[in-house]
Amino acid sequence: MKSRAAVLNEIERDSFDLCVIGGGATGAGCALDAQLRGLRTVLVEAGDFACATSSSSTKLIHGGVRYLEQAISKRDLGQYKVVKRALRERKIMLDNAPFLANSLELVVPCFSWLELYYFRIGMKLYDWISGRDLLFQSRHLSREESLHRMPMLKSDRLVGTIAYADGQFDDVRYNIALLQTFAKSGGEVLNYARVIGFKKNDDGQLVQARIHNVLSGQYLNIRARAFINAAGPFADGIRDLATPGVRQRLRLSKGSHILLPIDAMSIGDALLVPKTDDGRVIFAIPWLGRLLVGTTDEDVTLQDEMVVKEEEAEYLLKQLNRYLDRPLNKNQIVSGFAGMRPLVASSNFRKTKELIRDHEVEVDSSSGLISVLGGKWTTYRAMAEDAIDTVMQFLAMPAVPCITGNHRLSGAEGCSPNFWAELVRDYGISKETAKHLSQKFGTAAKEVLDLTKDNPQLKAPIAEVSPSVLAEVVYGVREEMATSIEDILARRTGLQYFSWEQAKVAAPAVGGIMASELGWSPGQQKDAIEEYGNKINRLMRLAGL
Ligand SMILES: Cc1cc2nc3c(=O)[nH]c(=O)nc-3n(C[C@H](O)[C@H](O)[C@H](O)COP(=O)(O)OP(=O)(O)OC[C@H]3O[C@@H](n4cnc5c(N)ncnc54)[C@H](O)[C@@H]3O)c2cc1C
Repeated sequence: MKSRAAVLNEIERDSFDLCVIGGGATGAGCALDAQLRGLRTVLVEAGDFACATSSSSTKLIHGGVRYLEQAISKRDLGQYKVVKRALRERKIMLDNAPFLANSLELVVPCFSWLELYYFRIGMKLYDWISGRDLLFQSRHLSREESLHRMPMLKSDRLVGTIAYADGQFDDVRYNIALLQTFAKSGGEVLNYARVIGFKKNDDGQLVQARIHNVLSGQYLNIRARAFINAAGPFADGIRDLATPGVRQRLRLSKGSHILLPIDAMSIGDALLVPKTDDGRVIFAIPWLGRLLVGTTDEDVTLQDEMVVKEEEAEYLLKQLNRYLDRPLNKNQIVSGFAGMRPLVASSNFRKTKELIRDHEVEVDSSSGLISVLGGKWTTYRAMAEDAIDTVMQFLAMPAVPCITGNHRLSGAEGCSPNFWAELVRDYGISKETAKHLSQKFGTAAKEVLDLTKDNPQLKAPIAEVSPSVLAEVVYGVREEMATSIEDILARRTGLQYFSWEQAKVAAPAVGGIMASELGWSPGQQKDAIEEYGNKINRLMRLAGL
């Protein structure tokens, strides 16, 4: 990515075909698709990239077995089509950035034969709908085999398990890889730039967005021929800025996750807990060296804070513990996160857990604002394709086919499962660091490590037991627009998700490097480190730790 100064200069000077509002999965997908189809595109994000819902997912690339169950039990063709399309997108997501995504075997424990047959048939159907995009066949594992693979499963009532395939990914880094690919294709991208209003022409159509540069406090304007609203849970706010008083479309549902040490449950596979107290499913999934458990589902408003609360952590553990012989406890929690699902409301009476995870592209005829509402991470690319098709129609341009279905993301070129070994050989780093860097950056890991040629001290870990190195901090600031300690520790390196405690320990070293990169004064550096530490302490307190 270019520097902020260079992007700001370009934005002021230029006029764009398309301005995308929101730097989560939906916005990043739309921006990349548009730029690749030849539209001069700019994307603005109010906070950091992926700072909202797109960093709070369960990290599954899936059609959704629960949605399939709903499709069948309610004979809902709409729900079936959503599952089918998502299964197609699952394969594309895996293929376009293999270093950030992998297939995963999930296991469903069954405590009665009836349950076992039910899931056996359901998963076969899931395989069948996947068609040529099937990752691998679902199968029945006997009680003995199940306990061998997952010794912690409650053994007294277990009759067997059903294993099936879905995808898993690093949501934040996938989001950043999309934006890097967009920037490399010639797009302009800026974080900490909030849309606060619009200017319209005599026909009432949007021609300019008013932006607040959150870091400098200054204001600027972006001129564009079309505007996409990809603000996720905040999309109704942008719709209201374009057409005051417009009917709200979104229902918001909060989902919390907790992370525990991977050996807490000694599993190599992911577990799907098929029944919770509120009639949903939860997952316990190995993810980047931790056990990720989630999620809750609760109606919320934009005013609710997206933090994991003690009762949510307890709820998740209670649901999971019903399936385990040795219960997990709250003191094992090392981190957590929460986010808001932006669901398109179809009626006031449906519960959020029953709303279809489909998307909608809405064109506001009075202002021309194109809003991309709802959806899920797995379908971000399909949502973008629909949105950019709509933009081309709106601009009365000849249709240009979408090419993102087969467009490798930045870092995927030349990447192989053993790429990490090249990094060990060429840069003399540990196997753990090499694996971590190739998982986060793909082949762009070499760009990170090239920084250590002039300054070998940047090979030092950012925290004692972490595979992340200081070079990632410099790279994050120079190439990925990171401007705060949290940008680095949560969304660039992922250490905050791995361990709240370790992130706190790493904050002074990260703050020191950021201070020299960004020209912070000693006072600013001290405040930034203190503020970050206080934030993490509060997250831990709220989660009951
Ligand atoms: C708990 C949970 C679990 C989930 N699990 C999965 C899963 O396993 N698999 C899956 O496929 N999907 C999952 N999802 C759904 C998926 O995460 C979301 O559908 C997706 O991330 C939404 O992306 P988005 O870009 O639309 O929204 P966001 O990521 O929220 O992005 C919108 C962005 O717009 C920005 N913005 C807001 N206002 C402005 C403004 N005025 N100016 C500029 N920018 C602005 C925000 O800062 C934000 O970054 C899950 C969601 C949740 C909450």
